Amino acid sequence: MVEIKLENIVKKFGNFTALNNINLKIKDGEFMALLGPSGSGKSTLLYTIAGIYKPTSGKIYFDEKDVTELPPKDRNVGLVFQNWALYPHMTVYKNIAFPLELRKAPREEIDKKVREVAKMLHIDKLLNRYPWQLSGGQQQRVAIARALVKEPEVLLLDEPLSNLDALLRLEVRAELKRLQKELGITTVYVTHDQAEALAMADRIAVIREGEILQVGTPDEVYYKPKYKFVGGFLGNPPMNFVEAKVEDGKLVITEKSKLPIPKQYVEIVKETGITEVIIGFRPHDAEIVKGEGEGIVGEVYSFEPLGREQIVTVSVNDSIVKVFAPEGEHFSFGEKVTIKVKEELLVLFDKKTEKALE
Ligand code: ATP
Repeated sequence: MVEIKLENIVKKFGNFTALNNINLKIKDGEFMALLGPSGSGKSTLLYTIAGIYKPTSGKIYFDEKDVTELPPKDRNVGLVFQNWALYPHMTVYKNIAFPLELRKAPREEIDKKVREVAKMLHIDKLLNRYPWQLSGGQQQRVAIARALVKEPEVLLLDEPLSNLDALLRLEVRAELKRLQKELGITTVYVTHDQAEALAMADRIAVIREGEILQVGTPDEVYYKPKYKFVGGFLGNPPMNFVEAKVEDGKLVITEKSKLPIPKQYVEIVKETGITEVIIGFRPHDAEIVKGEGEGIVGEVYSFEPLGREQIVTVSVNDSIVKVFAPEGEHFSFGEKVTIKVKEELLVLFDKKTEKALE
């Protein structure tokens, strides 16, 4: 397996810069998710790693080898796309065997490998069927099998689960994660689905407008977002944000809502002399109590039961904040409530740059 190193990758389409100086190291055997909104450049980055796109500038290394100029066929990568594009006139067997036939591998070797990989993906009973005789999930497994049969050093996946229904996605996602670890294959996985990235990846690179904003483990990007954008992109519901002024050593949201500056930020706030911040906290990291008290005071805007718990939406000034409450608790529209945030889990962003204070 290999380590992938991207150095100062720029990709332009005409005047448009799709990738703006990407630097990223994907470790040997690592599962790296490229996560970002539509149009952020995830697929462009994946195709650049595959060799389908040549970067306008920058270098790509597989281990120590510079592969920047190599075409896809010489990179030993397995690719799986969003629309699986199986060959409709070929059986599952033939579809999987195809890349090996292109390489003119001996018949016995092809047969052995096709059966092996089909077994691994639980499609060994479907080898004689045609793609139209398969469910979406089965087709997707065939596409993955076809990518793996060549024993690539790198597996590149572009939203491979997005055509599956929600339940099947969960199932295949767990399986794919397991398979990746079993094979130990260096994997890059493009998705705009934050839950998928959090659930599957060893590390996540969050991309916006052709730039990587943050690279980290799921925990790091979830709990310690470096930008407001990252906090707002991950989590369901995402991180809450309320604006505050720093006054007399407090975070002042409104006259009634003042929070002490959390310990971890006291020094930083003092050093930077910052006066306007955005407070970020996760819906699960706060508690909601009835009435006006110490904390963030607001009014109940809505509530949505989710089974074991409910999401309560609270309006605070001009912001909307979501918190979880136990299932039995009753709220009414417009009721005054106080949100008590766990101080140590709160994140402060500079209001101007939207960058986390550090
Ligand atoms: P999605 O999730 O919608 O697939 P993405 O993050 O994968 O989005 P890309 O497909 O990488 O985004 O596209 C990034 C930007 O580059 C987009 O603005 C897109 O319009 C532009 N782009 C991509 N391919 C080309 C191309 N061949 N020619 C011109 N512009 C392109």
